[in-house]
Amino acid sequence: MTLSSLCALNAAEKPRSYAGTNSTLLRRTLRMDRVRLAEEVVRRLSERYKQSLVERVGKGVPYRVFVATILSQRTRDEVTERVAERFLRRWGDVKALAAADVSEVQNAIKEVGLAPAKARYLVSAARIILQRFNSQIPKTEEELLSLPGVGQKTAGCVLVYAYGQAAIPVDTHVHRIANLLGLVKTKTPEQTRRQLQALLPRHLWLPVNRIFVLFGREICRQRKPACQSCPLADICPSAGGKETAPKQPERSAKKASTGG
Ligand code: SF4
Repeated sequence: MTLSSLCALNAAEKPRSYAGTNSTLLRRTLRMDRVRLAEEVVRRLSERYKQSLVERVGKGVPYRVFVATILSQRTRDEVTERVAERFLRRWGDVKALAAADVSEVQNAIKEVGLAPAKARYLVSAARIILQRFNSQIPKTEEELLSLPGVGQKTAGCVLVYAYGQAAIPVDTHVHRIANLLGLVKTKTPEQTRRQLQALLPRHLWLPVNRIFVLFGREICRQRKPACQSCPLADICPSAGGKETAPKQPERSAKKASTGG
């Protein structure tokens, strides 16, 4: 079976060649086809996108990754990088940040989006990490989610980029592209995260956030995806704009202020 037929399969959902197959076998076969499509997508995009902003700024150091992830939300990469490097020179570890004045932090990060909320969250999270986690950035999703301003996406980024743990942080790019490629059929990023984690073998989880975020900014953009120059055009059921991207989901009240 060719990849283009896999895509047609994903788009049609009920291929004629499977008529008469029992429903359990059909579901299993469709799932396997999506896994093979995902493997090809990850292979192609991994060759093109080798490092994200959070990886570049974070350098695999958990505190740096945590700060870069929070600062990067709703902010252009070049601004995040400049502000994060300045921030990390001034507040180089959890202890220094825990002792910081919130208004000074807010002033230092005023170029990034949602600076007042991020300043509050960064300082209060640092104080909790100092007291409750012995100054170590937590290593579990549950502990990370207990910190102010940390939602599923931020927790996933810390697990992936600081600790190399298998997780799939899903932002609007990952949500949109996974739907356009027919890997999932969902209405919210959280549904996408659950479906991707159920679909993909764990060895594919780590690169998904990096490659889809960078791909979503460069080629498969929210407005005007560049299908004509897309390296996935031959395997994408939405190539040429026949399919529409999923609507932007409502943000949950809890993490709406930073996009969590
Ligand atoms: S072909 Fe178009 S819609 Fe499909 S992944 Fe590429 S840019 Fe996005």
